[in-house]
Amino acid sequence: MLKVRLLGSGSGGNCTLVSSGDCHILIDCGLNARRISHGLREAGIRPDHLSGILISHEHRDHIAGLPVFLKSAPVPVFLSPGTAAGTALNGTEAPAEHFQVGQPFAIGPLEVIPFAVSHDAVDPCGFIIRCRGVQLAHVTDLGCMTELVRQRIRQSHCLVIESNHDEEMLKIGPYPWPLKQRVLSRVGHLSNRDLGRFLAEDFDGAAATIVLAHLSRKNNHPEIARQNVRDALAERASARADAFEIIVADQDRPTPLITID
Ligand SMILES: [Zn+2]
Ligand SMILES: [Zn+2]
Repeated sequence: MLKVRLLGSGSGGNCTLVSSGDCHILIDCGLNARRISHGLREAGIRPDHLSGILISHEHRDHIAGLPVFLKSAPVPVFLSPGTAAGTALNGTEAPAEHFQVGQPFAIGPLEVIPFAVSHDAVDPCGFIIRCRGVQLAHVTDLGCMTELVRQRIRQSHCLVIESNHDEEMLKIGPYPWPLKQRVLSRVGHLSNRDLGRFLAEDFDGAAATIVLAHLSRKNNHPEIARQNVRDALAERASARADAFEIIVADQDRPTPLITID
């Protein structure tokens, strides 16, 4: 069994708690450290009892809380050497554990498989987490759905995936043109449309729960993202759209606890 809760998600900061029994890890540490500690305590977990923190890439919204969090809870930080080069762990006693993107490794009972994504960071990755026959896919910050991502996330029982922006809202929205181009590019962020296309055409239907993550505050709306996914799932030939639970993650509030078994 895996338990998953996104403590917060968006360009203002990202952090997800994943638990199996008494093994608890974070994926990314981009929220304010106090908020992360509070989220852990609410779940009955002492911050210094974490088995580790996985870092997907070195952008600020994924690591901003790390230095302060590690001062009070110096737990192991798992990251690729490329990501480590851009991530300040100095001043803390936290051990850095380097992984190679593409190479599985274990944290207690969890098997972790980091896989490459297309994003403008040094060595960005998504994660598959497996434990006793159940599988979580966690993938945000990707400019496009590459064949590798499609393959890796197959057979996941819970899919946490980016639904960053509505392309029309982005085009007419307040961002300066260079930033619009960056977000829309193949190394930017995944649009509602690209996620919808994947769900309608390629999704294997294994995930009973789909969590929409890393929504843009300015260029998306939770109900637009949710309806887009409902419409995409309804296009699938094989399954009813209401067979899937859709959760939209929020920047400021944790998601409900998701149990995968
Ligand atoms: Zn991000
Ligand atoms: Zn990023």
